[in-house]
Amino acid sequence: MSKSKSILITGGAGFIGSHLVKKLIKDYPNYRIVNLDSLTYASNLKNLENCKSFPNYKFIKGDIRKLEFLQELFKSNNFDIVIHLAAESHVDNSINNPFQFISTNIQGTHNLLETARDLWGKNKKDKLFYHISTDEVFGSLAKGGKFSEKSNYDPRSPYSASKASSDHLVRAYYHTYGLPIVISNCSNNYGPAQHFEKLIPLMIKNIVDKKSLPVYGEGKNIRDWLYVEDHVEAIDLILHKGKIGETYLIGGDNEKRNIDLVFKLIKMTDSVLGRSEGFSKKLIHFIPDRPGHDYRYAIDDSKIKEELGWKPKMPFELGLDKTIRYYLGL
Ligand code: NAD
Repeated sequence: MSKSKSILITGGAGFIGSHLVKKLIKDYPNYRIVNLDSLTYASNLKNLENCKSFPNYKFIKGDIRKLEFLQELFKSNNFDIVIHLAAESHVDNSINNPFQFISTNIQGTHNLLETARDLWGKNKKDKLFYHISTDEVFGSLAKGGKFSEKSNYDPRSPYSASKASSDHLVRAYYHTYGLPIVISNCSNNYGPAQHFEKLIPLMIKNIVDKKSLPVYGEGKNIRDWLYVEDHVEAIDLILHKGKIGETYLIGGDNEKRNIDLVFKLIKMTDSVLGRSEGFSKKLIHFIPDRPGHDYRYAIDDSKIKEELGWKPKMPFELGLDKTIRYYLGL
């Protein structure tokens, strides 16, 4: 059995966090998992209903922007590990109102770093601060090339700038104070239990409701799609085998143009609903492009594949099918 550890997961009531909490409490009964989440609109505790019966799981409602609260929490729980996912995560919201992104993603991350540095002091053996970030910090790619761990930072939205800033702070705490850190930057996640504001759940919901399917620009922007459970497996591996001070990029090997993804969702959702092929195509509605809309993201994830033996397992169509059936309640 694995050695017992006390782990703080921030943002565990969000999309990726809820999948991670469920995996870790089940796979590691010896780990004591505290899920800290302020329960913003993006959270959903219903996704964690089954966790209540696990003796190694505890939920605490709290805000990472409150430094004193964090200090008390760390003192009373003696955390060995922090896995930091709490964030404002929706790019469109960051364009309309960046303030929350600055306070949660930058200030909140700094509060956690400072609390860990203070409480862990000189005794940093077996401690780890694991920061979850995004490929959006690297900016926009043209048709060729991929992001790697060596790519320069070039964030272009308030969201990606706030995540870039938090990555820099995490690395600065490693270099300046020797805080044991690791960072992973992943591509767009998809799967069950994501908030309806995000592209795939929004499209599925609107196809079901026969509502307009808004697509930015001409839908030519390209994203790489990573199934959330593949991501969570990568996090598990990095947590246990990642090298201190290192960064790992995680991708899904699924580059798709937004419009092609929407076509696929229409085809698959209409088929599950028993509608004729292409029924919902008429719902597509092109809207003015998002300001600063990055053209393409793509990930070279050879480092995590070669060094840690990870690879994404979920075939894209099967992942989409699971996602569609989840939102249809099937
Ligand atoms: P999410 O929006 O679904 O969940 C974020 C969670 O953080 C929510 O439960 C929310 O209540 C909580 N939270 C927000 N502000 C908080 C605060 N001040 N204090 C405590 N909790 C707070 O996000 P997600 O999609 O699960 O993303 C998780 C992490 O992964 C984020 O850091 C995000 O930047 C990163 N990420 C996500 C994706 C993706 O495609 N979803 C891709 C790359 C990186």
